[in-house]
Amino acid sequence: MITINEHYLKLQKSYLFSDIAKRVRAFQKKNPDVNLIKLGIGDVTRGLPGVSIDAFHKAVDEMAEDTTFRGYGPEQGYEFLREAIAVNDFRSRGADISAEEIFVSDGAKCDTGNIQELFTNDIKIAIPDPSYPSYLDTNVMAGRTGDFTDGRYKGVVYLDGVKENGFVPSLPEEHVDLIYLCFPNNPTGSTITREELKAWVDYAKDNKALILFDAAYEAFICDNSLPKSIYEIEGAKEVAIEFRSFSKSAGFTGTRCAYTVVPKECAGYDSNGKKQLIHSLWNRRHCTKFNGVSYPVQRAAEAIYSDSGKAQTKNLVDYYMKNAALVCTTMSKLGYDYVGGKNSPYIWVNGETDSWDFFDMLLNKAGVVCTPGAGFGRCGNGYIRISAFNSYENVKIAMSRLTETLSR
Ligand code: PLP
Repeated sequence: MITINEHYLKLQKSYLFSDIAKRVRAFQKKNPDVNLIKLGIGDVTRGLPGVSIDAFHKAVDEMAEDTTFRGYGPEQGYEFLREAIAVNDFRSRGADISAEEIFVSDGAKCDTGNIQELFTNDIKIAIPDPSYPSYLDTNVMAGRTGDFTDGRYKGVVYLDGVKENGFVPSLPEEHVDLIYLCFPNNPTGSTITREELKAWVDYAKDNKALILFDAAYEAFICDNSLPKSIYEIEGAKEVAIEFRSFSKSAGFTGTRCAYTVVPKECAGYDSNGKKQLIHSLWNRRHCTKFNGVSYPVQRAAEAIYSDSGKAQTKNLVDYYMKNAALVCTTMSKLGYDYVGGKNSPYIWVNGETDSWDFFDMLLNKAGVVCTPGAGFGRCGNGYIRISAFNSYENVKIAMSRLTETLSR
């Protein structure tokens, strides 16, 4: 008899995006003439940078010729891309990361989800609330949590992101071993200062803990005093793994390319309390279960580190940030409390009512789709997430509709 992993049965159905889609379909059926504006799902809307398209085409042509064809590449990624990442994303900011510490992959979603395999099931995990869902769900699947009651899984230490702490969770009061952090944050758009991040690094050192730092949105940081990488904090290399993605910075959501940084000195402990380097464990896992990102995609990613590539990706980010600024000004004018939108493409608005009621009101009265905050965790109730990923024209229309609907 084939028996199943019953931890999967503990998973809560992810109703969020299917519920949104259901409500949107019902609205469109009743109102076929309304041009709905979707500021919900965090997917980019603009084409890839020209440099990436050129590099893509060239690499595809190389694949057509026996002399330049490439088959399996290195599982960790081609040296040309790993080196460009190390130099441009880290060493240019004083973070001493080498190409060998970078593992190119097909997504930060897979990497943030898979990394927990390296650790035992009896560790204490700390997960932000609200948060990107895959951190929690992958730990549930692994059996690292108890059942779900009162909106939370037993055995997990939730790190509340609330108005009172500026949506930057405070250090846990109890000991934890594995800590998920995401800045700029999805869904709240909040950012973390160097001092705040240093406190987490110090906590990890003092507690022999490990930080999983998701920096998928670092490209949106405009304030240069904010850390883009956890490795800008002294000592972080021993206690932190960082996840990055080309999805939002360069529009690769459909192209798929990301990377994970596992520094050589980053360590965990075996059952005898002996230090074990995580780099070699992740390398082993990566080589056993992953066969590399396609060559043309890696060339397309490499291209964004050229001078014109940097200018083009900056343009992309600036475009979305102009949308975010318009959302922020509108929310301020309307007198709503919000966070994000300054160094992040997400704006987290306090709707002062149930998340889904606010969502329904915006859908039915303004024809604007957002994401109800409750879908990201218990602390998200009362909030909605507005995404800046759309055309400026659409965001302008959406904001004037919100002004009409929400003026009070
Ligand atoms: N991490 C966060 C916080 C995200 O919001 C997302 C995507 O929305 C991802 C990771 C996934 O990135 P990727 O497209 O590289 O899988």
